[in-house]
Parts: sequence; structure tokens; C-alpha cells
Amino acid sequence: MAKERMLQFVTVNREMPEKRPAELRSQDFHEIYRDFAARKAVEQSSRCSQCGVPYCQAHCPLHNNIPDWLRMTALGRLDEAYAISQATNTFPEICGRICPQDRLCEGNCVIEQSGHGTVTIGSVEKYITDTAWENGWVKPTKPEVERTESIGIIGAGPGGLSAADMLRRKGFQVTVYDRYDRAGGLLTYGIPGFKLEKPVVMRRVEQLEASGVHFVMNCKVGEDISFDAIRGQHDAVIIATGVYKMRAVGGPGVGQTGIVQALDYLTASNRKSFGDEVEAFDNGDLNATGKRVVVIGGGDTAMDCVRTAIRQGAVSVKCLYRRDKANMPGSQRETQNAEEEGVEFVWLSAPKGFTGNGAVEGVVVQKMRLGAPDASGRQSPEVIEGADYVEPADLVITALGFEPEELPTLWGVPDLAVTRWGTIKADFRTHQTALPGVFAVGDIVRGASLVVWAIRDGREAADSVEAYLAQPASVAAE
Ligand code: FAD
Ligand code: SF4
Ligand code: SF4
Repeated sequence: MAKERMLQFVTVNREMPEKRPAELRSQDFHEIYRDFAARKAVEQSSRCSQCGVPYCQAHCPLHNNIPDWLRMTALGRLDEAYAISQATNTFPEICGRICPQDRLCEGNCVIEQSGHGTVTIGSVEKYITDTAWENGWVKPTKPEVERTESIGIIGAGPGGLSAADMLRRKGFQVTVYDRYDRAGGLLTYGIPGFKLEKPVVMRRVEQLEASGVHFVMNCKVGEDISFDAIRGQHDAVIIATGVYKMRAVGGPGVGQTGIVQALDYLTASNRKSFGDEVEAFDNGDLNATGKRVVVIGGGDTAMDCVRTAIRQGAVSVKCLYRRDKANMPGSQRETQNAEEEGVEFVWLSAPKGFTGNGAVEGVVVQKMRLGAPDASGRQSPEVIEGADYVEPADLVITALGFEPEELPTLWGVPDLAVTRWGTIKADFRTHQTALPGVFAVGDIVRGASLVVWAIRDGREAADSVEAYLAQPASVAAE
């Protein structure tokens, strides 16, 4: 059998697809990795040792059947690899691009643990589905039976879209509502093109439309239509609205112009890459060109901001983070990419305030050291007294994380129970909320999380909606 094609990790070294040189890639918003050549994908897949208990699969939130699609790729049977891959993942080519694989599948590959370098699972996953698109294997859904029940989904991010896909496959009538003009949620307006090019997202949206998913865009639930009206129009509702309230930075001088929030900044940049007119970008407010930029934060959003600023032609880009590199929440791979592209990291530094006379001129930086571990085991940053200094800045971008909006209040549904963090309370398996027939998925339940978890939730919620609608009406209403 095919085993002899596999287990090549002893003789074949780990190779990622070629990364474009930093000086070239930092001039544009295209993805930074070139495509795997077919021969390379085969070779890299053949490194897998076909583990009987595949830890890669156990640590993939979708439990993708990784060893099987690696084996099919190694054998050149890409159509079968694609069939296996898409059976568990709604957007494999997107996960292949942007999952933090070092923390999920690849970080748990036994070959990695034995010091040979992980199988490049994400790159192969991307390669398989990109090839499937090129060859026309990715087809719109044609349900075997059309069902009359209608499902309303609020939010067109990965959580909402993966639920929509699965529900259409089951034959339900699906309407997705979103306040934005384009679907995709953070895939479209948050994550920059150098990680995920926009046509990759848009072709998925078009495919869903071709599958019969009805999109109602520019429709903000709670303003343009009430939540109750949506509930009244559909047999079940899925809430997939993500988390968008940004944690604010404090300190003297904080209200000045030139201090902006990460998502406003990234959304403006992403809109420009669609060719949209964006006044706040064109007038310079959300544009880093020619500026000394300071980004505050150490997560993935901060990494996306610093690298966007480099591409916009900032004079300098510095990233302030209150812990050290080893304790950063953001992916080490993205941090390395940022360093290669010219970003300077200022570790153990926190903002105390801002200088300037109405327009920001600098960040007052407090130097920190790592003290005793807190309850979570992480070392807490402590201020080093007398070590403050001013970091000059024309544009300060704050990326301190996201919190949920207060949906029960905004939507006038006090019975929609939330946790003490403001996220919607939903059963972790069925995704059912406190309201009958209402389900919730993705970041609005988990807090700021990952695309792959939103996809998992959306797929599971589709099954739960089907089960809910199969119940007698008297039971479902309880
Ligand atoms: P979202 O993607 O946020 O989508 C929610 C949708 O709901 C939006 O389209 C919004 O317009 C809509 N909506 C909200 N309120 C309403 C309303 N009242 N009415 C109508 N529509 C509404 N994850 C990764 O795995 N890898 C990464 O590299 C990565 N990078 C990231 C970079 C940035 C800058 C950010 C902010 C996040 C990143 N994430 C990444 C996290 C990931 O994007 C999210 O976890 C994921 O998108 C959550 O999916 P979701 O469907 O729950 O919500
Ligand atoms: Fe790895 Fe993400 Fe793909 Fe799962 S979905 S195999 S975690 S890249
Ligand atoms: Fe292959 Fe690594 Fe997964 Fe084992 S853990 S099946 S070697 S990819």
C-alpha cells in the first residue's frame, strides 16, 4: 500500500512554500507565501508518518482527517484529498492560510516533537483546496430535497457563513443578515490581504449565493430591523455577530487626534484594497504614509496593524508590548514576519499617556519588568519607577483586544442571557441560547477567538438547528 510513499521525514526536510523577500512583500498587500509547486506538496505530504493516533487531528478544532488527505496528496490523488478535506472543513483554503498552526495541528505533530520539523499541514491544506478551485471541483450546493423551514443568521463572518453552508446542504432556506456591505466579517474587513487575499473570501461568498443562500447586506440588526422581527420571520435564528467593542487605552492626552483604534485602521485599509473611497483614509486620519507609527498591543491584531503600516509607507513602525517576546499572545510566526519587514518591537513597555497639543506627538512609555507569576501562572508586568521616556509618534494605533457589545440591551431582548463577560450564554455542544430556537456561535460566544473555532461552531449549530426543528412544536417552544 501507500505506506512506502510516506514516512519520508527522515530524508526529506520540512519546507514551507517560498516566502517572498521582505523588501518585496512589504511593498504590497499580496499574500507573502508563494504557492507550493505540485512536486513540493507531494514531497512534503510524504513526510507524514501516518500516526495511528494522530495528535495533529486531535488538536485541530475541526478534527480534520489530516493523515488521510496527506496520504492522498502524496499519492497525487488530489481530488480524493479534496473530498476528505472539505468533508470536515467549510473553508479549508482559508484555515490553511490563517490558522495559527504552530499552536494547533502542526504544533502537535509527532515529527515536530521528535525534532524533525512538523509536516506543513496548513500549506498542504491550502494547496489541496486552491487546486480544487482551479480545477472546478468546488461546486455550489444542490440540496437533494428543498425544505420549507427558514433560518435567519445574523452575521456573515466565518461562524455565520459555515452555518449557512451546512444548513443549505440540508435543504433549509437560509437568509444571512449583515450590517456591512460585503460578507466575510473579519475575513473581509479585519484580516489584511497579506495573510488572506480578498478574492479568496469573495469567491466563497459568491459560491454560497450560487447555492441559494440569501444575503441581506447593509442591515444592522437592532437598528434597521429588530431582533424580534427576525425571530418572527424565521423558524430558527443563529447569532454570529462577533465581538467589536475595542478595549480603550487610558492616560493623559488620550483624546487627541492621531490616536486610533486598530479595527478602524484595518477596516479602512481593507476597504481601500477593494478600491472603495474611504474619507478617513484619504484625509490621512487612518493612513500611516509618511508617519512615525506606534502600535500598542502584542496580539495578532497588533501584528496586522504594524505590518499594514509598513506597507502603507510609514517612516518607522514600533510595537509597544508590556511583556517580553516569550510572553506575547500573538503568533511567533507573525512576529518574525513583522521583524523581517522592518517593525521594531519595544518589549516590556506600556503607555502611560500621550504628548501633543490636540494632535498626538508621542507616547509616554513606562518601562516594565516581569514580576511574580499571577493566578494564571503568567508573570505580571511591574512598572520600573523613574524609567519613563517619550516615544515620538504621529499615529498611535491601539490594539488592546475586543469585548462583546451589549446585545440584550441593544436589541431589547433582556431574556437573551449573557455571561459575566458579556458574551452570549450558549450550550457548548448545541449552541442553543436561553431563547427557544435561537442559537449563537463564534466570537460572540467565545470572546475574541479564531476563525477555525467559529467554523466549528457554525457547523455544529447547523446540526442543532436541524434537530431542534425535528422536534414537535410543543417541545421546541420550551
Ligand atoms: P466575525 O468574523 O466578527 O463576523 C461577525 C459579523 O457580524 C460581521 O460581518 C459583522 O458586520 C456582523 N454583525 C455584527 N453585529 C451585527 C448586527 N447588529 N447586525 C448585523 N450584522 C452584525 N483568527 C484566525 O484564526 N487567524 C488569524 O490570523 C486571525 N487574525 C485576526 C486579525 C484581526 C485584525 C482580528 C480582529 C481577528 C483575527 N482573527 C484571526 C480572529 C477571527 O477573525 C475571529 O475569531 C473570527 O472572524 C470570528 O468569526 P465570527 O463569525 O464569530 O465573527
Ligand atoms: Fe490545522 Fe487549522 Fe487546518 Fe485544522 S483547520 S488542520 S488547525 S490549519
Ligand atoms: Fe502525520 Fe504529524 Fe499528523 Fe502524525 S501527527 S499523522 S506525522 S501530520
